[in-house]
Amino acid sequence: MSHFTYVNGKLHAEQTALDRIAAKFGTPTYVYSRASLTENFLAYASACQMHGRGQQGALVCYSVKSNSNLAVLNLLSKLGSGFDIVSGGELERVIAAGGDAKKVIFSGVGKSRDEMRLALTHDILCFNVESIPELHRLNEVAASMGKRARVSLRVNPDVDPKTHPYISTGLKENKFGIAFEDAIPTYRVAASLPQLDVTGIDCHIGSQLLDDAPLLEALDKVIELVDQLQDIGINLHHLDIGGGIGITYDQELPVAVGDYLSRLFTRIDNWRAARHNGKSITVLFEPGRSIVGNAGVLLTEVHYLKHGGNKNFAVVDAAMNDLMRPAMYEAWHGVKTVNERTAQAKVYDVVGPVCESGDWLARDRSLAIEPGDLLAIMSAGAYGMTMASNYNTRGRAAEVLVDGDQFRLIRKREKSSDLFALENI
Ligand SMILES: *Cc1c(COP(=O)(O)O)cnc(C)c1O
Repeated sequence: MSHFTYVNGKLHAEQTALDRIAAKFGTPTYVYSRASLTENFLAYASACQMHGRGQQGALVCYSVKSNSNLAVLNLLSKLGSGFDIVSGGELERVIAAGGDAKKVIFSGVGKSRDEMRLALTHDILCFNVESIPELHRLNEVAASMGKRARVSLRVNPDVDPKTHPYISTGLKENKFGIAFEDAIPTYRVAASLPQLDVTGIDCHIGSQLLDDAPLLEALDKVIELVDQLQDIGINLHHLDIGGGIGITYDQELPVAVGDYLSRLFTRIDNWRAARHNGKSITVLFEPGRSIVGNAGVLLTEVHYLKHGGNKNFAVVDAAMNDLMRPAMYEAWHGVKTVNERTAQAKVYDVVGPVCESGDWLARDRSLAIEPGDLLAIMSAGAYGMTMASNYNTRGRAAEVLVDGDQFRLIRKREKSSDLFALENI
């Protein structure tokens, strides 16, 4: 259910009219719905419970890079979430937000020694390792600290997720993961290293997947490896199927999370019954977009309307530095007027003030607007604020969390002085 709906001609987040937020905190501002975040997380957590996997049998590790605001992390942590991080900075955020480091898994191809040390200090659940040199480095760092590191290997199941090439990660030609055929020898290396405990296997094949067939195909390949590993005496405690479930930006119809998890757990249960006397294996998930994507919008104000020869432009105060996805992936975001107007609509490209032709947020949209109107760029909760930059010395947007008819600032708008505070003449 969407928590961004029109009530009496005004677009609301839950029971809060978006123009109240703009009046109080200005624009551009990211606005998130607490109810929506909660529901989207619980879609995973309840499906795990329904399939008999409580605290021990499954763990949802929210992908921090999709939206890393402390208030978002704090909310998800209170709901029981673990976290999938890709940097030491994200680990520090999780801890600052009150998250449990023992529920953190560390993904990514390029972990530094300092990041490994930080994660070992906090005794994270698992390192998702992507190469043999990384195994050696982790072993060394752990040895220098007198600690052991739990590891999972990210394998590349070579299935086509049928999504945008920039967000597809599980094909042979991607930089991510260990090639399927190298998995067993790499596990042998991992098992031979004295400071490493081999505990799991993981994969993540891509993002914005609408169908779960590629994920289930990846699961089958992972299952095959778990069995082969058992045959050589390497017993895994968990399997991690990654994230990747898509959301509706326009007309897309993504698989329901509950249906996907139901099919996944059925396969896992059948396999465990057939090959492992029913002995269970813990299942991890790393969802990002499907939890936060449709829980947020970017609120912006129309500065100017330019009616050109064959194009009309609506120049707004949000730009590619605030929301990179259109410039980076030609992503489509819905655009809604905060106050519904009945006036004549025109077709506009919605563009920002940044000095780049790639600075657009939406193209060819029919909108009835005037300068000063507020627009909501929809489905902007994931990979919006976390990809924002300060290009053109633009301070990043404010962030607001709505709860019913209440709302509060969860990140102040950046001032110019914040942007050059670390610089010297
Ligand atoms: C980005 C990422 C995710 C989250 O992907 P979504 O498509 O947002 O669900 C999960 N795992 C890894 C390793 C990632 O890099």
